[in-house]
Order: sequence, then C-alpha cells, then structure tokens
Amino acid sequence: MATIISGRELSKTKKANMTLQVEKLENKYGRRPKLSVILVGDDPGSVSYVTGKEKACHEIGIINQTIRLPEKTSQEELLNVINDLNNDPLVDGILIQLPLPKQINQIFVINSINPTKDVDGFHPENVASLYLKQPGIVPCTPKGIIEVLDSVNIPIEGKRAVVIGRSNIVGLPVAKLLCDRNATITIAHSKTKNLKEVCLNADIIIAAVGKAKFITADMVSEGTVVIDVGVNRDPETGKLCGDVDFVNVEPKASYITKVPGGIGPMTISCLMENTIECFLKHMEVK
Ligand code: NAP
Repeated sequence: MATIISGRELSKTKKANMTLQVEKLENKYGRRPKLSVILVGDDPGSVSYVTGKEKACHEIGIINQTIRLPEKTSQEELLNVINDLNNDPLVDGILIQLPLPKQINQIFVINSINPTKDVDGFHPENVASLYLKQPGIVPCTPKGIIEVLDSVNIPIEGKRAVVIGRSNIVGLPVAKLLCDRNATITIAHSKTKNLKEVCLNADIIIAAVGKAKFITADMVSEGTVVIDVGVNRDPETGKLCGDVDFVNVEPKASYITKVPGGIGPMTISCLMENTIECFLKHMEVK
C-alpha cells in the first residue's frame, strides 16, 4: 500500500499561508498583487482551468482580472492587449491560457510578455534562468511536483528519476529541477525504446504523457515513488484520470499522487506563489 500524497491538502496549507501573506503585503505596500489572465476562445478545458485560477485568487485575496477574447481574435489584437498589461504598473502577473487558436503564434505571444510578469515561467528569459540556475520564475507544475516530493521528505539526491514526457511546460523543466537536486535523470518520450525496462529501473517516476492509464503495474517496481501529472478522460467512464493506472500501480508504489487532487491543485497554488513573487519584485524595483 502506498502513501497517497495529497496535493489538494498541501495546496490548502499553502493557500492559507499566502492569504496571511497577501494581507500583510497590502498593509505594507498599500495594494494587493494582481494577476491578469487572458482567455482566447471558449474551449471548455481552458474555461475550467481559468475558473480554477479565478477561484484561487479570490480565496487568497489576489486581485484577478480575466480578459475574455473571442476565438477569432487576431495575433495583433492579442499582442496589443499584452502590451497594455505589460505597461500597467498595477498588473504583477500575466497568464495566457494555452492553447491559443490556430491563427495565433504561441511562441510569439509568450515572447511578448514582460519576463518580470511571466507567472508561468515560459518566457525564454525565465527558461534560461532555470537552466543557468539564476533567479527567475519557475514553471508552476514542475515547481509543484518538487514541493510534493519534499512535503513527505522523499530523498531525491542520488535517486534514479524517470520523467516520461519532454514538453517545455512539464517534462523538461521538472527533469532540470530533479537534476539540480542531484537525481540521475532519464527523460523518456514517444521514441523511447523499452520504456517498461526504463521505468522498472526508476526510484521516482514522473508521468507527464497525456495518455489515460498509460503507466501500468508491470512498469513499476515495488517501492517506486509515482507522481502522476496527466489530466485525461478515462475512455471507459468518462471521468477525469491521470497517466497512471492508479488502482493497479498504487499497491506497488511507496508514494503516489492521485488525479484529481494531486499535481493539479499544486500547479494552481504555485501560480499564486509566482504572482506574489512577481509583485514583490515590482515593489523592490520602486
Ligand atoms: P505534451 O506537450 O503533449 O507532451 C507529452 C509528452 O509525452 C511528449 O514529450 C511525448 O513525446 C510523450 N509521449 C507521448 N506518447 C508517449 C509514449 N507512448 N511513450 C512515451 N512518451 C510519450 O503534454 P504536456 O503539456 O507535457 O502535458 C502532459 C500531461 O500533463 C497532459 O495530460 C496534461 O494535461 C497534463 N498537465 C497537467 C498539469 C497539471 O497541473 N496537473 C499541468 C500541465 C500538464 P514526444 O516529445 O516524443 O512527442
């Protein structure tokens, strides 16, 4: 039987601490941090993610502004909105809900965000800071994954960590953070051969694939720590599920996270933390 690490509980504690912090910041600086979220179109998944972010801001006392733009918004129109937010001294964080409609170049848009307001940590300047071990904004999901491991004192140094997935949002940055903590990293992807053997050698598995129940019990050795980042629909039940076949993997794992209630809530609380960090940097500059 594995210990289930509850990202939901952990993020509740984080949010309670941030609520107090935001109150103190308002007393000290005369205003609260502000996060502006841009949602282009009405993709149901994106709408639900944005609602989650609005709710978290509300809970903590961070000022939230959601700018809803129509699906057919041009790249120029979006860049103008970002430019206004970049120049607004009362906006601390800017988040563009991804994915964007086809007519808009995602890279161009991310690059246009002022890096000091880039709460997602996707701007090349923040990405470079992460890889060069310099101060910068760390992407929310990878940051949340490390906090989940640390919350139960899982040793990382010297451990064999297998990260399945190599996206810029999850796989690569979490591999870098684990490497910085002296784990020995394997990054697996769709062209990896013998993934089962690779996983069987792992002390820690981070699954960020985007395929329902992809990690099965025969891929996991006894005592492995299994972190499930995936957010998928179970093809049989239609319910939300992760990349890990939880029911069958859980008895073999030492620690495991669940979907929902694992990395998802941690991503949101780390986003709130990044917004406060951006606010503090803006206040220091003044
Ligand atoms: P992504 O950009 O689609 O990347 C998926 C990765 O999985 C790719 O690197 C891909 O390899 C790899 N992959 C696909 N099929 C594979 C296979 N058969 N064997 C091994 N690797 C395979 O996805 P993402 O943005 O990183 O997200 C991954 C999952 O995490 C999704 O379910 C997403 O919804 C979820 N997510 C959750 C949170 C959260 O807060 N909980 C945040 C972000 C993402 P290639 O590079 O070779 O194509």
